[in-house]
Amino acid sequence: MYILISNVGSTSLKFKLYRMPEEEVLCEAKIEKIGSTDGIYHYKNDINGRTHGEESTPLKTYAAGINMFLSDLCDKELGAIDSVNKVQAIGFKTVISKGFNGTVELDDRVMQGMKDYLFIAPVHNAAYISAIEQFRGILPETPMVGVFETSFHRTIPLENRLYPLPYEWFEKYGLAKNGYHGASFTYVSGEARRDGDYKKIIGCHLGGSSSICAIKDGKSFDSSFGFSLQTGLPHANRSGDADPYVVPFLEDQGMSFEEIREGLDKKGGLLGISGVSNDLREIEEAANAGNERAQLAIDVFVTDIVRYIGAFYAEMGGMDKLVFTGGIGENSSLIRRLVCERIGHLGIELDAQKNEKTRGNGIISAEASKVKVQVIAANEELGIARETFRCLKEKEK
Ligand code: ADP
Repeated sequence: MYILISNVGSTSLKFKLYRMPEEEVLCEAKIEKIGSTDGIYHYKNDINGRTHGEESTPLKTYAAGINMFLSDLCDKELGAIDSVNKVQAIGFKTVISKGFNGTVELDDRVMQGMKDYLFIAPVHNAAYISAIEQFRGILPETPMVGVFETSFHRTIPLENRLYPLPYEWFEKYGLAKNGYHGASFTYVSGEARRDGDYKKIIGCHLGGSSSICAIKDGKSFDSSFGFSLQTGLPHANRSGDADPYVVPFLEDQGMSFEEIREGLDKKGGLLGISGVSNDLREIEEAANAGNERAQLAIDVFVTDIVRYIGAFYAEMGGMDKLVFTGGIGENSSLIRRLVCERIGHLGIELDAQKNEKTRGNGIISAEASKVKVQVIAANEELGIARETFRCLKEKEK
């Protein structure tokens, strides 16, 4: 069975075509910096090794990225299949839908639930709705499955999830911590426990969206993400933790709700502080060249990571492994080093050379380190492929 997995990030789009149940990857593509005039496109056919890469491609919309990928997918030389109709299902890493959780087929009710929760996840749900509708237009008969990002966090105990708000708001609206990045942390939890039975893992998924998860006995115990994706660490463009009274204060200063919202959603995070870019590579470059606000963005990001690691360490009563994943976690040796330097007292000693060299996967702690530090290349797609396959098989029964 050919299953196409589509991972729609806040600034990126990733595809993998799997043959299931063999879990064989036939081709993959990564599209970055969507919305800008200098998007990055990389396609690889994993069977014959052929690649297609374009830097500085104008990729204004998700639809442009999808069309570029589908054309390569069925191309004579580059393609993994000869017709897009051979795709038997599409699996999506979906974020949140009112009334749905876990793995579900994306019918009209689930799509309506995603629209109802546009307010909670405007950037993500809007991108997903647009990508799913685009695919529905091209492949109207192909089943589409959503694996919701909140599922992994259903194990978080209530005392770690509940906000100190009127209890009726929890009962009536479900106002409590949801946690996101579930597909990533499901994979991290499995991979990180391959070389030992680690009971207390802290996972840092750092990318366009960033979050930290406390994983106790393989299950989510706490997350830096709250009710919405607007919480926790600074994200590429989104605020992360900020005092909720910022909103009425700014309204009182004469700003409209739309202006405030734009600041929180699009003009905040690493972009908001640095004023340079929402992309850490460019922020690191600017900081190296002496830009003080770029340096400040890095410092705030690192401090917030350290703060959450400390909180989750205390909550779990220790940590026996620290994991970095996501575009920044896998690639930025600078962020990893700055974080680990600040938490040496928690039993962490980095191997400087291994840290410098590691991109993707590897242990980067020194032999003597009490806590192991591991870099794991995010593979949300495999978890989604497994879940999509399972969902389709159950439907066949
Ligand atoms: P998304 O959350 O949108 O899926 P990714 O997980 O791909 O995004 O992460 C994107 C982030 O990773 C960007 O901020 C980018 O700058 C950062 N990144 C990628 N490669 C590097 C690198 N070599 N050094 C520093 N940051 C990097």
